[in-house]
Amino acid sequence: MTFAALGLIEPLLRATDTLAYRTPTPVQAAVIPAVLAGRDVMAAAQTGTGKTAGFALPLLQRLVEDGRPVGSNAVRALVLVPTRELAEQVYESFRAYGQFLPLRYLVAYGGVSINPQMMKLRRGVDVLVATPGRLMDLYGQNAVKFNQVQLLVLDEADRMLDLGFSRELNAVLNAVPRRRQTLLFSATFSEAIRAMADTLLHDPLRVDISPRNTTTRSVRQSVITVDKKRKAELFCHLLAERRWGQVLVFVKTRKGVDELVDVLTERGLQVDAIHGDKNQPARLRALARFKAGEVQLLIATDVAARGLDIDDLPLVVNLDLPIVAEDYVHRIGRTGRAGAQGEAISLVCADEVQQLAAIEVLTQQMLPRHEEPGFIPAHRVPMTDARGQLVKKPKKQKKPKVPGIAAPAAPKLAPKSTSKPKSGKPEASLAKPKPPKSPWSR
Ligand code: AMP
Repeated sequence: MTFAALGLIEPLLRATDTLAYRTPTPVQAAVIPAVLAGRDVMAAAQTGTGKTAGFALPLLQRLVEDGRPVGSNAVRALVLVPTRELAEQVYESFRAYGQFLPLRYLVAYGGVSINPQMMKLRRGVDVLVATPGRLMDLYGQNAVKFNQVQLLVLDEADRMLDLGFSRELNAVLNAVPRRRQTLLFSATFSEAIRAMADTLLHDPLRVDISPRNTTTRSVRQSVITVDKKRKAELFCHLLAERRWGQVLVFVKTRKGVDELVDVLTERGLQVDAIHGDKNQPARLRALARFKAGEVQLLIATDVAARGLDIDDLPLVVNLDLPIVAEDYVHRIGRTGRAGAQGEAISLVCADEVQQLAAIEVLTQQMLPRHEEPGFIPAHRVPMTDARGQLVKKPKKQKKPKVPGIAAPAAPKLAPKSTSKPKSGKPEASLAKPKPPKSPWSR
């Protein structure tokens, strides 16, 4: 299968050639002909599947073939994305794919001055990539008009809802023309997304490239169990021992990010951080330095998980597991992209066993566990099973109160945990978790 066979025009083929894309990925092969034929699309596809080119290439072709000039402050194709990082990345993709086309592109997101964006919108743009909040700000100030919108893309729609953009999304959806082509991409399909799709899309082509909520197969995943307070130390040990090169490290909290950065910097390592407290220029600078190989370690919170596009990133380390299981899928989607082999290692402590169980249920796999010599956890991480239940240890036989009467022999036990989890909660209180509710279950 070639890009030419999908019906793409010469300037787009030249662009894919320049980018050394040889064959379309499965999502591209499914989506491109449908979009060219004018159909709506609802696609379950994660980052790393090539989904951006899947919608951008045919969208550009539709705009060129339609050929109508864009009026001042007007937009012909509107691409909504959840985060600034993803906005930049998608915008850069449009520029790369459309480099041989006479079209104008613009990216607009919050956290930076609105005035340059307003100035650039005056002449009108063919493709506007925007986050919902800033887009509605621009709309409220009459800097952008939606009357010429003929194509609407919602990228990572699930994340937009997660981030609380549903009000802005509704406002945009009410303001764009009804006669338009709509493409909806989402890594996961919750009830809310399905409901939105039902109202937005007309007879869509449904594409489900990756099995739902499963992680890309080209990523080797594993867990190393460790005590919470020794995670940073274990990370430094593995970094040296396994001679890791560039690593993207995920940490749950901003404070956690800063603490790890301090530990690593003290050891003389090249490290930068990316999280919600950093302003946009700082985040972009950190990402650019990491991409350029100037820093070895990029420490991030989940805020950064979606928008990062880093070619050939070999390794993602989860210093903490995410609270929301879906974020695990997004985190490890940073490696093993476009068919490359990647690795994702999670350092898991006893307190995180329920998060681990939820991830295993969501991704329908048991993550292989290892222990690192010298870091065997004092607080054992309880075993989980495929249903997200913790495997209970058989109860100890009670000692009889009457002296002289021996208790019956205890059944053979699983290796004994010598201590309680740090939280101070007895292990029994961890033993009956609610099975994590998969958003896929209807
Ligand atoms: P995406 O899923 O759109 O974020 O794309 C993931 C990565 O795959 C990006 O770095 C793209 O440049 C790359 N990519 C997309 N399509 C192809 C293709 N057909 N062949 C090779 N690489 C691709």
